[in-house]
Amino acid sequence: MSYNWAAYDSATSCVKMPKGMTNLMAYLLKRYAYSRSMGICNCRSVNGGTSRSHHSECRAGDWGIPTGAGGSYRPELGDPVVELLGPHGKRLGLDHLILNRRIYSARSPNGRYYSGRHPHYNHAHIGINSAGAKRLTMATLIDVLGDVGAGIPLPPGDDEDMEKYITEQQKNLNAAGFKGANGRVLTVDGIYGANTAYAEASRDKAAAADGGSIPHKHPISGETGVAG
Ligand SMILES: [Zn+2]
Ligand SMILES: [Zn+2]
Repeated sequence: MSYNWAAYDSATSCVKMPKGMTNLMAYLLKRYAYSRSMGICNCRSVNGGTSRSHHSECRAGDWGIPTGAGGSYRPELGDPVVELLGPHGKRLGLDHLILNRRIYSARSPNGRYYSGRHPHYNHAHIGINSAGAKRLTMATLIDVLGDVGAGIPLPPGDDEDMEKYITEQQKNLNAAGFKGANGRVLTVDGIYGANTAYAEASRDKAAAADGGSIPHKHPISGETGVAG
């Protein structure tokens, strides 16, 4: 399979272009019922110099998936999103994707080693260019990628992995300051209850407006940025 991606479109400011990535994230969450959003907009994440993370323009989404033993990558959960998006990167305006220690972009359509500190075993960081961020709709996504279907669930017997995953999410939500429905810091217990759901909803709402909760930076080198 050969993939294609839009030209790398560097982020330079904190202007908010949430539409395209918000729609893509919604599409992915519906299609892969085992996944979660880990955040979209984040204006605080500066990578040094004049370059900023795509998150600063709401042009990146962190699509979260459960990890395996010891926080390991689970290819059966993560690989499908690369296989889904890779053939349509240009069409959708996707300009990079980081997953499982690899970065995919126009420079390396089928991926190269990603050396950032975060290995991206628990989420795919997906970037979209400015045009896509302004225009990409759910209708286009369904037209290009197909219907979301009934939502692919986590394979059976994965309760333990899901518990670890929820635990990690609870820690991230606490670190980012999102409280439960009871107004308190979440209990880190791996159980997806009303308070965790509330904190997640708050985080996603904040991400759509501003804020976000990206718990790590995405240093990216070797890409030729397009201004704007
Ligand atoms: Zn990210
Ligand atoms: Zn990331």
